[in-house]
Amino acid sequence: MPWLILGALLGSLVLLTGKSQAGTADTGSGTGATRRDSMNLKHFTKDEFGQWWPLMNQELLQKLDAFREQWGAPVVVSPAEGGIGRHLGEFGTSQHNVDAWGEVRAVDVFPMVPAGRAGYRYINNAEERQRAYDVARAVGFTGIGLYTDTSPGNMLHVDVRPTEQLASWSRVNGDYLGIGRVLA
Ligand SMILES: [Zn+2]
Repeated sequence: MPWLILGALLGSLVLLTGKSQAGTADTGSGTGATRRDSMNLKHFTKDEFGQWWPLMNQELLQKLDAFREQWGAPVVVSPAEGGIGRHLGEFGTSQHNVDAWGEVRAVDVFPMVPAGRAGYRYINNAEERQRAYDVARAVGFTGIGLYTDTSPGNMLHVDVRPTEQLASWSRVNGDYLGIGRVLA
């Protein structure tokens, strides 16, 4: 898997570079941060990306952080297998596939909304999905999927595939459909 090895090497180089800059770039964390710790992520920590952290595309992280800021409520990174990076072989076209891209370009998340005294709940209706889609577009994701057949709530896939043309889709009861099918 040459791409995987290359990706791991690139990730290491980025981390090494980041360490040398930490003294000037990071004035806040005080935790011996790597570059990605101090890359101005306001809402996410490296722990939320587990083993995939060194391979996370930085544009993806920045846009995810911008999404969370505009969304205004918790956005939970999917804990499911494959929710962040995947090993699908060098010919697998998923934006999650580190074997093809040498990095993770996609992440699946569960946006939440305020729910009174209970705190927050997961999104579950067309109006909330529409808003998630609108915010995802506004921050510049180039791939957006909305899933109504996921648990514990509706799931949002976002990616940063290199294209001018937005790719969007939905999944309803296991069927892949146009995004319009699940929007308001
Ligand atoms: Zn996904």
